[in-house]
Amino acid sequence: MTMTDFDKIVEALAAADDITIASHVIPDGDCLGSMLALAISLEELGKKVVVVNADSVPDMLKFLPSQEKITLPEKVTNVSPLLVMVDCTDLERAGETVSQWKPKVKQIINIDHHVSNSYFGHLNLVDSKAAATAEIIYSLLLKIPATITPEVATCLYTGLATDTGSFQYENCTAKTLRLAANLMEQGADIPLIREYLWERKPLSSIKLLTHALPTLTLSHDGKVAWMSVTQEVLDKIGSLLQHTEGLVNYPRSIEGVEVGLLFRELPDNQIKVSFRSKKNVDVDKVAAQFGGGGHKRAAGCTIKGDLETVIKKVVSSVGEVL
Ligand code: 5GP
Ligand code: MN
Repeated sequence: MTMTDFDKIVEALAAADDITIASHVIPDGDCLGSMLALAISLEELGKKVVVVNADSVPDMLKFLPSQEKITLPEKVTNVSPLLVMVDCTDLERAGETVSQWKPKVKQIINIDHHVSNSYFGHLNLVDSKAAATAEIIYSLLLKIPATITPEVATCLYTGLATDTGSFQYENCTAKTLRLAANLMEQGADIPLIREYLWERKPLSSIKLLTHALPTLTLSHDGKVAWMSVTQEVLDKIGSLLQHTEGLVNYPRSIEGVEVGLLFRELPDNQIKVSFRSKKNVDVDKVAAQFGGGGHKRAAGCTIKGDLETVIKKVVSSVGEVL
C-alpha cells in the first residue's frame, strides 16, 4: 500500500461530485459492505453516488443499509468520470458490462485486499494484510474525514465478520478485532447482523447440505477433500446458488485435510470452484492457473467444462503443490 496513492485517492474522492462504485460478481459481505459504507459516507458529504453490482444481493445480506440502492450496471446510462472498484482483483471481476466502461471513465480507483490484485487502477490502494476490504475503507473514511454512522459501522462490521469467517481465519489480526470493537461502539447493529448471517438460513439450504455431504471425497492421503453441487440438485430442492455459501468449510474442517474444495455447477456449462487451505498451500496460485485468484487461504475461479473433468483437473493441480 503506497501512501501517495492513499492521499491521492482521498483527494480524488473529495474533488468528485459524481462517483460510481462497483464490486465483484456473486457478491459477498465484504464487497457489498465496503461498497455501501463508502457510498453512504460519500453521499453524506453531498456527492451523487451510484452503486452497481452485476448480480443481485443475496437474501442473507438484504439487511445492509442502502442495499436497495444497488443497481445493475446495464441500467447505468451515464457512467461518472470516476469509477471506484472495491474488493476486485481486476476490472473483469465486476462482470462484462463494467469492464466495457474502461474507455468511458477518466479515472479508476482500485481498493482491494487480494494478493492476486493486478493493480488495474489509475490509483491503487491494495493491502493484502487487511483481513477485509472493509478494513481499508475504514482507514480511508477516517482520513477523508467522514463520520462513521451506525449504518456505516453495520456495513463495515459485516465485511470483517464474513471475510474472517466470524473472526476465526488466519487473516484475522489484533487490528481486525480492535476495529470490530470500534465498530460495535460506533453503533453497528450486531443483533441484526447475527440474525441475517447465521440465524435465518432458508430450510432449503440445510436440505442442500444433505445432498452435498454424500459427494464428499478425499484424495492424496486425506490432504485434499471436496464436495460438489449440481444444477439438478439445486433445481430439485428449490435451492439457489447463494445457499451454497459456506459449504466449502465442511471439507476444510476435516482433520488432516490441507485443501478443501467446493465445485458448483453454474447454468452455462461452467463450474465455480472454491478453494480453502489451512497452513501450507497458497490456493490463490492454484486458482490463478485457471484464471481465478483470491487469497493464500481462500480463492476461487470459474472453469468451462463438465463437473467430472473439472474436478479431475483441479484436484490434480492441487496435488502438485501439496
Ligand atoms: P469464494 O470461494 O468464496 O467464491 O471466494 C474466495 C475468495 O476468492 C474471495 O476473496 C473471492 O473474492 C476470490 N475469488 C473467487 N472467485 C474468483 C475468481 O473467479 N477470480 C478472482 N480473481 N478471485 C476470485
Ligand atoms: Mn474481501
